[in-house]
Amino acid sequence: MALSKSRLSQWLLPRHLSVRTFDGDGDYDEDAGELLPAPRLSVAAAQAVPVAALAGVLAREDVEAVAALAARLKRTRPDARQCNGGAWTTVYLSCGRAFQRELPALASRLVRAAKRAAADQMGLDLRGVDLRVRCVEHHEMAAGGALADECHYDSGSVLTIDVMLAAPGDDFDGGALWFPGAGGARAAGLARRGDAVVFASHRYHAVRPVEAGTRRVLIVELWEGPERGCPHRCQSATAPCVFDDVGSPAAAGPRKRFSWPPRRGAGRVHSAAE
Ligand SMILES: [Zn+2]
Repeated sequence: MALSKSRLSQWLLPRHLSVRTFDGDGDYDEDAGELLPAPRLSVAAAQAVPVAALAGVLAREDVEAVAALAARLKRTRPDARQCNGGAWTTVYLSCGRAFQRELPALASRLVRAAKRAAADQMGLDLRGVDLRVRCVEHHEMAAGGALADECHYDSGSVLTIDVMLAAPGDDFDGGALWFPGAGGARAAGLARRGDAVVFASHRYHAVRPVEAGTRRVLIVELWEGPERGCPHRCQSATAPCVFDDVGSPAAAGPRKRFSWPPRRGAGRVHSAAE
């Protein structure tokens, strides 16, 4: 379904929101804004983009492989672990490009599925847009954990893929993903382990409190920056990231924007995207 211009024009960008100068928490961050790709969609326009549902995108063995990688990185790369409050931790599976190198078939399957969903279910024409992995995150949220900020969005990314790794109703209760903008719909499509949703990254999204058990999800964000292997949600699409310990030709970027010490925001550990 293509989004008509008239439909998008109903969503006016609020004066107090500037896509390029706010991070995903809504905090003003002018330096990070300069280092992120220019947005394809304003935050306001993104609220009208449908959420795509992909049933059974991961098989049981895929889920187990992701869990094993997360467990190993937790032990071996403490810098890839982030605590978002007592009940919620994140491990960056893209740290050292571990996810991309060790699970390449799974990684490319998810990226392909997201691009197809963008065209078929979301009405986004991304032909000619070179999307790469910005970050791959493993989230564990125990009882009491939530992503409560209703203005949270994944600033600087184009598509966000959210894959359910736990069994709703068995492994945890509560913890529903929902979309505060454009009617506040609960996400359909995360009913079973292995299901995924894909949404425009600038769409507001939140998670209801987990009431019991542990909710686990895999998040992949695609952006127009270089593929990253740094142990965080990279804020630097146009300069080499000083935290990227692997490096790649694509990560070199335009040298003129590189400076030392890193500018404020370049190495910022972002509040985990959900
Ligand atoms: Zn980085």
